[in-house]
Amino acid sequence: MATASELPHAVCVELAREAIAAGPDGYSPVAANERARQFRDALLGPVINATGVLLHTNLGRAPFAISTAAQATNIEFDLASGERGSRQTAVGGLFAMLCGAEAAMVVNNTAAAVLLVLAALANGRDVLVSRGESVEIGGGFRVPEVMEQSGARLVDVGTTNRTRLAEYSKAMSRKAADVAVVLKVHPSNYRIDGFVETASVKQLATLGVPVVADIGSGLIDANCPWLGGPPPAWLANEPAARQTLADGAALVTFSGDKLLGGPQAGIIAGRADLVRACQQHALARALRPGAHVLLALQALALAYLDRTVVDVVPFWRMAATTVNDLTVRAHQLVAAAGCGEVVATEATPGAGSAPNAGIASVGVRISGDHLVALRRARPPIVARNRDGVTVLDLRTVNPADDHFLVEALRVCAS
Ligand SMILES: *Cc1c(COP(=O)(O)O)cnc(C)c1O
Repeated sequence: MATASELPHAVCVELAREAIAAGPDGYSPVAANERARQFRDALLGPVINATGVLLHTNLGRAPFAISTAAQATNIEFDLASGERGSRQTAVGGLFAMLCGAEAAMVVNNTAAAVLLVLAALANGRDVLVSRGESVEIGGGFRVPEVMEQSGARLVDVGTTNRTRLAEYSKAMSRKAADVAVVLKVHPSNYRIDGFVETASVKQLATLGVPVVADIGSGLIDANCPWLGGPPPAWLANEPAARQTLADGAALVTFSGDKLLGGPQAGIIAGRADLVRACQQHALARALRPGAHVLLALQALALAYLDRTVVDVVPFWRMAATTVNDLTVRAHQLVAAAGCGEVVATEATPGAGSAPNAGIASVGVRISGDHLVALRRARPPIVARNRDGVTVLDLRTVNPADDHFLVEALRVCAS
């Protein structure tokens, strides 16, 4: 438990003042300490994700180490010429290579990527979007609102459940139509089933205007060559950057911290002239990431090119762990803690990626609801409660943190 002495003196003084002001009986050390504990718990810090949701949006999606060396970098300096360079050159080049694209660039997140693409390519002009893709994704990414902020005009095409290629053609041949791009949005976190029809990127690419595909979760290659085997079944409905570009998309946009497995970022990849237009737009300056994010993305991209993804990228290491390995760990945990039971669970990719897909997993369960006690552990542990039974899913826990689970289980059982 945090004590007041772990906080800066000025904070302790402030909290003691607040305790005095709030307490009818004046200052009490217990009340001041409780305030100190609450203050410390509200600070940002590492957490153990035992929820089984691999990309937990509230827990920072993909865990990925960011370099913290306090050193200058050649972020905007061309070492060959000694002149000013672009922060997009190195990392953009790596992502272009990874995606099989002419060019690529990086911004702060996918919302920023879509905003920048539309502002740079379609300001004051029409953008065609299927009604079935005019959706809200995750924490308030709403396609019509992003569109409005970019200055582009949204032209709805088709119906919620069915949009055919001919309907896009019709929208293009409207009187006074001024179509800059067709936007295809992957409806990441929801699915329309049944009587459904959509136009594919391949079909849309025949329309004669650039197709921008917001694929969202950042699967680089549908074949997952970094796994050294066939792609897992839970990825079946996820569009991938390489294949979407090969199908004729002029640009793809995707997240850095979903299936890519890296830090929060948004990547724009595709035709060189369109990427250049995005880089030259005034908003690019406002949406650009800092050196730490670029360094982390560079390490990530090199791991993909090196096929060391499963060793270097925690998301893919968690996703690729076998049920057998998880079972062994679970038995070790139960034996070390002297309580709990090994249980089969179902983990999920999370962050709106592959919404209906489950990944077979293994956990440790302990009867009773212990979520509060687990959150008070150091580091805090976030688990799930199912009908009064607490379940710690091991797929999302770094094996190096298992000893924290052992301690916490002992506390829960005592
Ligand atoms: C997740 C997602 C976004 C938003 O991504 P952020 O990186 O969180 O801004 C946008 N579009 C799609 C299709 C997504 O899946």
